[in-house]
Amino acid sequence: MGYTAVHAGWGRLDASLDDLGCGRSWADVRRVKGLELACPECRGRVFAHVSPHRAGHFYHQVRPRDCELANESPEHHLLKPEPATAARAAGFRCELEVGNEARTWRADVLVFDPQDRPFMALEAQLSPMTPQDARTRTDRYAADGVAVCWVAVEKRPWERGVPSLRVAPPGTAGTRGRCVMAWRATPGQRHAR
Ligand SMILES: [Zn+2]
Repeated sequence: MGYTAVHAGWGRLDASLDDLGCGRSWADVRRVKGLELACPECRGRVFAHVSPHRAGHFYHQVRPRDCELANESPEHHLLKPEPATAARAAGFRCELEVGNEARTWRADVLVFDPQDRPFMALEAQLSPMTPQDARTRTDRYAADGVAVCWVAVEKRPWERGVPSLRVAPPGTAGTRGRCVMAWRATPGQRHAR
């Protein structure tokens, strides 16, 4: 399950945006015969799904074992758009599930500066990660000049070793507000580099 897909002509589709980030609607992509959408991670075929109870997303026709987007937990899937919503509310452009060319990282949310350069990744990190892993993954972003903020919903052993933010899980009161407040507390970073 992911929030993004790739179309040969339209480019990237982003389910967290009203026009899917490419001037299209769900009617253009849902149950449309012959429409080919690919997973940005494994390039496998994906389909659009919308239900009254859940946000729109893309799912794999056949779930490949080695695709991280296909195998992320429902909790991670639900948390991921929250930092994007907070960043957009604060006036930033951001993209979901975007990686670098060398494939050394893929951000849940990549935030762009006013010159449209990637400058901060927001990572919803629910699965266990050692402090050393957190450092290594943070350094991979730093090698590309990208800062990262790790977002957790509970106390984690890595939270003091790397930039991090703890939020309430999605669906509980105050999640979004807390994200926005924390994000707005660091506007100076926009111009720091
Ligand atoms: Zn995939």
